[in-house]
Amino acid sequence: MTTSMDSSLVENILKLKKERNAVFLVHNYQLGEVQDIADFVGDSLELSQKAVQTEADVIVFCGVHFMAETASILCPKMTVLLPDAHAGCPMADMITAEQLRQKKKELPNATVVCYVNSTADVKAESDICCTSANAVKLVQSLDNDEILFVPDQYLGHYVSTKTNKKMYLWPGYCPTHTRIQPDDIIRLKQEYPKAKVVVHPECRPETIALANEVLSTGGMIRYARREDVQEMIVGTEMGIIHRLRKDNPAKKFIPISEQAVCPDMKLITLEKVLRSLENMTPEVKVPEPVRLKAKSAVDRMLAVV
Ligand code: SF4
Repeated sequence: MTTSMDSSLVENILKLKKERNAVFLVHNYQLGEVQDIADFVGDSLELSQKAVQTEADVIVFCGVHFMAETASILCPKMTVLLPDAHAGCPMADMITAEQLRQKKKELPNATVVCYVNSTADVKAESDICCTSANAVKLVQSLDNDEILFVPDQYLGHYVSTKTNKKMYLWPGYCPTHTRIQPDDIIRLKQEYPKAKVVVHPECRPETIALANEVLSTGGMIRYARREDVQEMIVGTEMGIIHRLRKDNPAKKFIPISEQAVCPDMKLITLEKVLRSLENMTPEVKVPEPVRLKAKSAVDRMLAVV
């Protein structure tokens, strides 16, 4: 329910947004009220593509740090704001550029594919970037049969089951998606026998094994629009439920686990968005030498998808 305080807050945000010529790019895992003020809500790939297309002066990135970095990599002339500087990604922090350099020495013949959920420094050490929406297609398209995949072991494992590549997996993982358990799916399938089970590829293999579809959040949004999908058991971060219900009010969406909440994604609030626009901070800016190297990994991805 929108209160009068919320509506005056939203009014102030929208007024300042116009003055600053800003665009709001918002990830599917954000709080519902933050999604509701977005120019665009989407997954990492969709938001990167939108960042490139925008003609605004300022991007207010409502997501986590690596996403704002990706926008800075792609749009160096724009001011990129992340309304809470502490909104990070524990999985992205599970590998450093130095650790990746060491691993590359051990595997000199492997092509390094990094999931977009990684720091700009790690992207700069990688050959090509991918997202959960395009990872399978992208890895399959590579000439090399030997792949070093960082940092998500579960997305990497999923890709390895769909391609014929020899894949070395960095042992990173998303703490939120690993809370989505197979037992919960089995219980919910008994309760909702007609529902489709859709999970994110950051889930563990035993969870993925029980799904009808394995999709990125953008893929889930599109899948939910299908006429043959009336009930959906959803295995990803809880924030997506807001968007699914808003887009499809007559359909039923059942989260597999209400524990699947990413605390970092929930750090962005409407108050912080307003403050960020007032003060034009915190700004995320990737240093130019790192940006140029990271950009070639991101550009190679955007050329494939
Ligand atoms: S949901 Fe997982 S991968 Fe996404 S930002 Fe949170 S910790 Fe990182």
